[in-house]
Amino acid sequence: MLPESPPAGTTVVPNRIGIEQVVEGDVCLRVTDPGTDDTVGWVPYHGEAIAREAVDAAAAALPAWRARPPGERADCLRRFAASMLAQQRVLARQLTREQGKPLTEAMGEIAYAASFLEWSAEEGRRLAGEWYHAHHSDKRILVLRQPLGVVAAITPWNFPAAMVTRKLGPALAVGCTVVLKPAEQAPLTALALAELALQAGIPPGVFNVVTGDADAIGRAWLGDARVRKLSFTGSTEVGRLLVARAATQLTRLSLELGGHAPLLVFEDADLDAAVRGAIAAKFRNAGQTCICPNRAYVHAAVADAFVARVRDQVAGMFLGHGLDDGVQVGPLIDDDAVAKVRAHLDDARDRGATVQCGGNIVQPRFNLTHRFCEPTVLTGLDPAMAIAREETFGPVLAVQTFEDDDHAIALANDTPWGLAAYAYTRELSRALRVAEALEFGIVGLNDTAVSNAQAPFGGLKHSGWGREGGKWGVEDYVDVKYVSIG
Ligand code: ADP
Repeated sequence: MLPESPPAGTTVVPNRIGIEQVVEGDVCLRVTDPGTDDTVGWVPYHGEAIAREAVDAAAAALPAWRARPPGERADCLRRFAASMLAQQRVLARQLTREQGKPLTEAMGEIAYAASFLEWSAEEGRRLAGEWYHAHHSDKRILVLRQPLGVVAAITPWNFPAAMVTRKLGPALAVGCTVVLKPAEQAPLTALALAELALQAGIPPGVFNVVTGDADAIGRAWLGDARVRKLSFTGSTEVGRLLVARAATQLTRLSLELGGHAPLLVFEDADLDAAVRGAIAAKFRNAGQTCICPNRAYVHAAVADAFVARVRDQVAGMFLGHGLDDGVQVGPLIDDDAVAKVRAHLDDARDRGATVQCGGNIVQPRFNLTHRFCEPTVLTGLDPAMAIAREETFGPVLAVQTFEDDDHAIALANDTPWGLAAYAYTRELSRALRVAEALEFGIVGLNDTAVSNAQAPFGGLKHSGWGREGGKWGVEDYVDVKYVSIG
């Protein structure tokens, strides 16, 4: 996205840095509705200078925030969560406008996002140290857990609220302060959250949001010794770049990168549950989630029945603008996303896949954009196809049949990514064997709704480092200090 000058008289949603609302400079980013191309708002286009000022603010706020009793920080986070829920519809409408997902999903995301603040508030109160006897009777070992300090977060556009609070909640709960750069496609939600945080009593400087030049902001933060960690959710490509840049200050990194989830349906599966699970996970957010199944491997004995049931339901899904009543699938985020999904569809067709339903990128009605991909089911998936090799990030489910378990597991694991995988079977021994064999950070057994604030979310291999959520997410924001006592 290129910066541009907003028309005279435009209101620019300011960045939040400390108490200051920064709107300097005349270049801005236009935030548009992906379903209509209408302008939803303008945000500043900042670079290194403001990124460093944000770190100044976070560093200045750190000593007092770190010193507060955990219960006081928890109170602030709980008030913040409550105000998100009180504003749920307003936030959700804005989220749908900038990101495109159906309003019901946006409502769900706001509640899900608030749950990270609530969970972190509780977990932050329980942060404890340890006390051990040592190898001499006159020595003791004390282990302290202390907040890392100023932490940076860079978030993606597909969950503009939840990806913010999943990082922010644990960081603030343990006493860190945060500088955050939301994705340029959907930054308004993060800015709205910064406002709510301030109103909830989270002091100025504790949570700062900067919008603008991603590369310059990232460089500024990874070049700054005061930034002790960067938590990133986004593409593997950018993740790699950040790993290289983090070498300068040895900045600690959490990386939640791409996925390419397989869904395995064995011949003994509860097919109705498998169909429900596949559709819920695949078509949510128009397939733009890093844990949505991209490829289904279905046992040959049940493949026809599975495909027929999926097709019947998917063919009836309502494609349209996220704010319209009853819409189940909204637009893709931008033209690059459309190009990728189109390329995967064309490649699959050229290589012999059969389109069971959908298959086109359309304009559902005259005043909408051409960014709507029909919910699509393909059969005849082949490992050579692009859709079998990489994340499509669109509402397309591709199905391949298999005959034996080991083959299915081998197909599932034959990828550099390792975020989420799903398996449907009723047989306990098979379920456990498959769960152990799948090389993924998250395995859904007879379940595709795997995201929640209590669980450790994260990947293996090219899907990243670290875990977010639960006690693991909180541990990622503390330093362990060993005090040897004589
Ligand atoms: P996607 O392909 O899903 O948009 P990206 O990895 O490009 O994923 O974007 C995820 C986040 O990373 C966004 O906030 C984006 O602005 C940011 N980003 C993109 N390029 C860089 C970069 N060079 N340095 C730091 N952040 C970046």
